[in-house]
Amino acid sequence: MKLSEFAGYGDKMQQLMRSVQAGRIVHALLFTGPHGSGKRTMARLFAQAMLCRGLEKPCGACPACKRFLAGSHPDVRILRPEKKTLGVDEIRELIDYLALKPYEGGKHIAIIEQADRMTASAQNALLKTLENPSGDAAFFLISEAPGALLPTIRSRCQEVRFTDLSVEDCAGVLESKGLSPARATQLSGLAQGSVGRALELDGDEDYRSLRNRVLQSLEQLKDRASVAGAAALLAEEKGAEGTALEIMELWARDLMAVQAGSRPYEAEDAERLSRCRLDGRALLKGVVLLRMQLASNVAWSNALENMYFHLVDSGNNRRTVLSWQR
Ligand SMILES: [Zn+2]
Repeated sequence: MKLSEFAGYGDKMQQLMRSVQAGRIVHALLFTGPHGSGKRTMARLFAQAMLCRGLEKPCGACPACKRFLAGSHPDVRILRPEKKTLGVDEIRELIDYLALKPYEGGKHIAIIEQADRMTASAQNALLKTLENPSGDAAFFLISEAPGALLPTIRSRCQEVRFTDLSVEDCAGVLESKGLSPARATQLSGLAQGSVGRALELDGDEDYRSLRNRVLQSLEQLKDRASVAGAAALLAEEKGAEGTALEIMELWARDLMAVQAGSRPYEAEDAERLSRCRLDGRALLKGVVLLRMQLASNVAWSNALENMYFHLVDSGNNRRTVLSWQR
């Protein structure tokens, strides 16, 4: 990954990477932000760059990089809480390990994922090490809930906040990972700028087939008589209702964009969108309504039918709301 590919992650990330590449010491970094926003990927990239012996760090080709990528670099420890909490014993073990000389004579790297799961005593144990840096250890703390960290821990770390990227930047990152521009744009829209979520979706057959069923269901909607059949297509989506609604919401937004005359995507869906005459705004309102019904314990299939009736009825009342190009 080249420095230019960091563009989407903002200036701060590029600055940090430059100082790492120049060999300047970064002692403790705290990466915070939502799931899928790139915290883990970045921590690993920084760690690799710190260990790399190549010219353009991380080069990916030197023995240190290869060992790191294979997960077998002896100077790297990654703590990933398996349980609800990360206890003091695990932190003490980490500290003992860091007291040894780095095997390859460079740096020790410690990555603590879900750092907010550290118990108070674990955090206090870590704090001592953060307060008295030995000079050859670099810490990466990763957290989606940094409020659960002691203020003293946070103040010892350089905090970098991650946000979801813009859809365009997210698509750029996906393209740099080898996805086609059309696919990258589609997925980054679906994931609303979360690279991690987009990559999850990319490999997720269940999601793709659910999305297809949701769109088929919407496409069957013509009049009151078609409601039961269209809703039946989604009747079995128990446990996936939330995702189905997410898909409808994104589809509604895409429809609104297309219907407002802007065609932001060269998406695979362009044709399907232009064929669809469901009003985006009405669908979006319907999704909100459906969520409210679910929240007040209306059964999924009933709530869905209610929403579909509402959609076709408002379509009959107002010509523009629902009509299909045949
Ligand atoms: Zn390297």
